[in-house]
Amino acid sequence: MGASRGLGKAIAAALIAEGAEVAICARNAERIAAVANQLGAEGIVCDLSVDGAASRVVAEASARLGGLDILVVNTGGPPAATFDSITDAGWRQAFEGLWMSAVGAIRAALPGMRAQQHGRIIVVTSIAAKEPVPNLMLSNSLRAGLHGLVNALSKEVASDQITVNALMPGYQLTERLIELNVDETKASTTIPAGRIGTPEDFAAFAAFLASRQANYVTGQAICVDGGVLQSI
Ligand code: NAD
Repeated sequence: MGASRGLGKAIAAALIAEGAEVAICARNAERIAAVANQLGAEGIVCDLSVDGAASRVVAEASARLGGLDILVVNTGGPPAATFDSITDAGWRQAFEGLWMSAVGAIRAALPGMRAQQHGRIIVVTSIAAKEPVPNLMLSNSLRAGLHGLVNALSKEVASDQITVNALMPGYQLTERLIELNVDETKASTTIPAGRIGTPEDFAAFAAFLASRQANYVTGQAICVDGGVLQSI
């Protein structure tokens, strides 16, 4: 999901490199068609912030691919804001985009995964979910909630051989970070690894979590951040 660029696109490419058949979605029809063509994926147009869109995408992906083994829940990040500046409408919009899209996609994917007794669900969140980042109130709070959902759901579906994990990006140099004018050199000095991450660093771990070898890893929130997070 959310794969016309950035982390979603890199994960799609990593899964395709491992031999998976992949469907990707995003809002812009021309862009998703071009990226799908470039990667060799199925392209689906959808706005994940619209009610019911995420479940429709999963149904369409399953139909086009002949089933679904791996679901990568991902979408654009909510706007930067402090508590005082967020209206009720702002909270609801972010909730629809980040939370309900995850719920809708997972709900649509589970029956097929349960029937086949195999599944991988990976939810892209953020290090902000573990260590709140100033000015990112919407992301800090809603994504921490998603970690609760991931862990609780993992217990409910583990006996169906379905794993559910959250993957937290730290600072991966995607188009989004470039648009936000993140200074790569300055950012690198605060990252223990001494460099900003690449989308491919992140995608490689997502591909591992999606693999058979990761079948006993579930309910976790794991960061790919070059050592940025301080918490144990
Ligand atoms: P990005 O903006 O480069 O890519 C987001 C993708 O989702 C794009 O393909 C976009 O078209 C699609 N998208 C956005 N809104 C959508 C919608 N409503 N419906 C359908 N598709 C939609 O972002 P990214 O850097 O790849 O990050 C992916 C996610 O990870 C974001 O939620 C971001 O906040 C989070 N994140 C990223 C970083 C990082 O370092 N890049 C760090 C922390 C968290």
